[in-house]
Parts: sequence; structure tokens; C-alpha cells
Amino acid sequence: MRKKLVAGNWKMHGSLASNAELLRGVLEGVSGQGGVDVAVCVPFPYLAQVGQMLADSAVSLGSQDVSRHDQGAYTGEVSGAMLKEFGCRFAIVGHSERRTYHGESSELVGHKAAAALRHGLTPIVCVGETLEQRQAGQTREVVCAQLDAVLTILGPGGLAASVLAYEPVWAIGTGLTASPDQAQEVHAWLRQRVAESEKGVAEGLQILYGGSVKADNASKLFSMADIDGGLIGGAALVAKDFVAICAAGVR
Ligand code: PEP
Repeated sequence: MRKKLVAGNWKMHGSLASNAELLRGVLEGVSGQGGVDVAVCVPFPYLAQVGQMLADSAVSLGSQDVSRHDQGAYTGEVSGAMLKEFGCRFAIVGHSERRTYHGESSELVGHKAAAALRHGLTPIVCVGETLEQRQAGQTREVVCAQLDAVLTILGPGGLAASVLAYEPVWAIGTGLTASPDQAQEVHAWLRQRVAESEKGVAEGLQILYGGSVKADNASKLFSMADIDGGLIGGAALVAKDFVAICAAGVR
């Protein structure tokens, strides 16, 4: 059985003071919880602070991006080796905000995932369709093409060491959530696509759902057969909400 993972994506939010307060609440709330993996993916400047606060806790640290390059003249970029040195376990790649505002292609996302793996990080690879694409009946085609591009670069072995996140763009930060059935349908398509490549990898792959997951809808979403946890934006900034979502992932 696949263990659930709940990862918070703080996006570009936080301050030294507010991070400390948020993390105190999260650590207190999830202590002794077990049964679910928990992570927070924080802005680069706060990796050291958050890493220190999470030391010896069950909550893992993650970044929100990683460079496809290992080092060199790439101003503004952060390498997988640097993230590893700061104690990261996860790196989100291909978040729709990176794809939209920074023009990241699925091929680049695949290279970023490969860079994460080279440095012992677990990439959380995001895929998802826009509202227009969903309304045009293109959801399956779009998410499978995004997945295929990454699978081509990583191969099934690399994907096996990754986490996939289905995040419909129309549900991110909008308060609109995919219904459990809508999300399950897409998760099943994604798993099937991986199975066409390698069945064993598909069965073990954690596929998270992200898009306005809240304390009151998490349980239903997480109870679906192919939903293995969540990638949480807004609700990850409120300790009691994030803790309640983590609790919904406990079996
Ligand atoms: C996200 O940023 O990945 C996300 C899912 O955001 P929200 O939960 O706010 O929709």
C-alpha cells in the first residue's frame, strides 16, 4: 500500500517571524501522528531557518524549484547540490506558476527532475490542465503529454524515485477544487500511462492531488484509490488547517 504524503507549498510567502510561528504549530500538531509523510516546501532564503527548526522532526524540507544545471554561470539559479546541503528531501518541479510565469516547458521540467535525482532529492513533478483545456476535453491528452516528456528524460527508474502531483491549473488558489471523482479519474489516467511503460513503477508511484485542498475536503480526496496525498498551497500557511489536512492522510 502506498503511504500518503502531504506537502505544503508556501509559495512566495513568509518571514523569519511568521515561519517560526507557523512551524511551531505544525510541529506540535503533527508530532506523534505517524502514518503520513509530511513536508514543507519553502522559499530558498528560508531553507536554513526551516531546516534547523525541522531537524530531528518527522517533517521533511523541500524547495519549490531546482536548476537543471549542477553549477556554473546561471545567475539566480539554485542547484540540487545546494538544496541537498541545506537538508532538502524534496524539490517541486513544473509547478503551473513556473510553467506560466517563467515559460517552463515540460522538457525543462524533466531536466529539472533529473537534476534533483542526481543530487539525491525527490522531485515532486507537477502536471495539470487549464480550464480551457478541460472544457475542450483535452485533460487526458495534456497531462499525459506533460508526463511523457518527463518520463522520456527520467525513464521508468527515475520516475519510480519521484512523486507526481496532479494540479489542475483552474483549481490552484481559486477555491475551486476538482471533485474526488474528477481527480481520481485523472490520477488513474496518469497511473495507467506509467503502467504502459512499467507496471511495477505505476503501482508504487505516489500521485498527489493539489488545487484548493482544505481541511474539509481532504479526507474525501485522500480516500480515492489513486490519490496518495496532497500538495497544499494556501492551507499550508495556517498551522491548524495544514495539520488537519495531514491528519486526513493518516490511515
Ligand atoms: C499549489 O500551490 O500547489 C496549490 C495547490 O495551491 P492551493 O492549495 O492554494 O490551491
